[in-house]
Amino acid sequence: MHPLLTTDAIILKEEDYREFDKIFTIFTKNFGKINAIGRSIRKKNAKLKYSLQVLNFVNLEFIEGKSFYIICDVILKDDFQNVKDDFPRLKIALKILNIFNEFIQGEEEDRKIWNLILASIKKLSQTQNYQIKNLKIFYFYFIWKLISSLGFNPELYKCVICKKPLQEKKQQKNQNDYFNSYFLIENGGLLCQTCGNKYQNKKIVVSSNTIKLLRLIQKDDKILKKIKMSRNDEDELIKLTKEFINYFGISKYNF
Ligand SMILES: [Zn+2]
Repeated sequence: MHPLLTTDAIILKEEDYREFDKIFTIFTKNFGKINAIGRSIRKKNAKLKYSLQVLNFVNLEFIEGKSFYIICDVILKDDFQNVKDDFPRLKIALKILNIFNEFIQGEEEDRKIWNLILASIKKLSQTQNYQIKNLKIFYFYFIWKLISSLGFNPELYKCVICKKPLQEKKQQKNQNDYFNSYFLIENGGLLCQTCGNKYQNKKIVVSSNTIKLLRLIQKDDKILKKIKMSRNDEDELIKLTKEFINYFGISKYNF
């Protein structure tokens, strides 16, 4: 008989399985990411139906089965109902769970990552008056924090090749004159102009505005509400983030 395992957890994903079952992808505090089966969960009066929903924060009891873990009991800690009832916030929450699920592989306890995902969902649930553009920034904030937590903090203050500090240049009124810099994905950070000229193919051009945004995002979530992001900034941030996460093998992600 396998021992009963217990842990706090967040439900990331669910899929129908067989006639009445579901397979859940769950990030747990003590065991990392697991797949677990909820048996008979799609039956009408299934006891755990409401506790086992995507986004729920739960305490989980499970045992090891042949191909999956088997869920035995669930205590609901927070269903984040206010997020589920608010479509723009729900959309961001689901995007966060999705990209998190893409990034995190395997059963490995990681408290830093656990704290990040739990804190982020809680934060989403506590911020009532976030506008949609702030929610978008929150999403990028999450992705870049996740990348940092996995040990790939981007270098935004000195050149990743020659290590020279990067000069801040004054922005011109005309947008075309904005100072552009280069981001070298494989080295995980910015290049100075001189080094940038040497790397013809692999660099991505980023504007000073995007660099500023990234620097703010790297700081902390308290300032997120004050950040302004134009359509252009957003496009650039999407492009850079896409290229960056592509480097980690996540290529089909839809922003
Ligand atoms: Zn350089």
